[in-house]
Amino acid sequence: MAWYTPDLDDQDVQQAIELRRRKVTEEQMRRFETYVAEMFSAFGMDLSTPATKDTPRRFVRALYDVTEGYDGDPKLLTAFQTECRGGPDCRLSQIIEGPIQFFALCEHHAFPFHGRAYVGYIAHEHIIGISKLTRLVRLFSKRFTVQERLGRQIADTLEAMLEPHGVAVYLEAAHLCTQMRGVRETEPRTRTTFWRGEYDSNPSLRTEFLKACGLGE
Ligand SMILES: [Zn+2]
Ligand SMILES: [Zn+2]
Repeated sequence: MAWYTPDLDDQDVQQAIELRRRKVTEEQMRRFETYVAEMFSAFGMDLSTPATKDTPRRFVRALYDVTEGYDGDPKLLTAFQTECRGGPDCRLSQIIEGPIQFFALCEHHAFPFHGRAYVGYIAHEHIIGISKLTRLVRLFSKRFTVQERLGRQIADTLEAMLEPHGVAVYLEAAHLCTQMRGVRETEPRTRTTFWRGEYDSNPSLRTEFLKACGLGE
């Protein structure tokens, strides 16, 4: 199989994947630690114990780490050539990966929402390594986002990269901002689906995909 670099005409997709390391200086990080220390302390945390004295520092670093999706992932910019023979077979054979565990931060509260993703596509002339699908989910989940945009970005990026016959994304997540504050007592999972191409027009493909995700009959 030959390597191939997708020629992305979608600027948003290109920018989302490209490596663009965030510029946060050590001096800024130290300042953020003082903000966090002031807030944690005012909210009730005792920052004078051996266990907690470094908590503001750890919190700021951890927050930086879990939002590393903004740094991009250039390793995503490769795919494999394959051969599409056309015909009905080509338009019906799905590649489905999941469950892919993800952790994201809700942009409304900066609290985590986490769950599992299933990503499916119907290849045309290009395929992508299975591990890349996990990378794709991580790229967009390790940010401040909402479930709707997360699914849309995964679907649109895969579509732009591979130009496949179809893309399907299923996301199921628990949102801590609502759960921890007790806003919602039942149905703790939010489910969203995203269909592109053949999936949009062929209900049996959707059924098959959802079945592979452990849903439906
Ligand atoms: Zn929220
Ligand atoms: Zn094809």
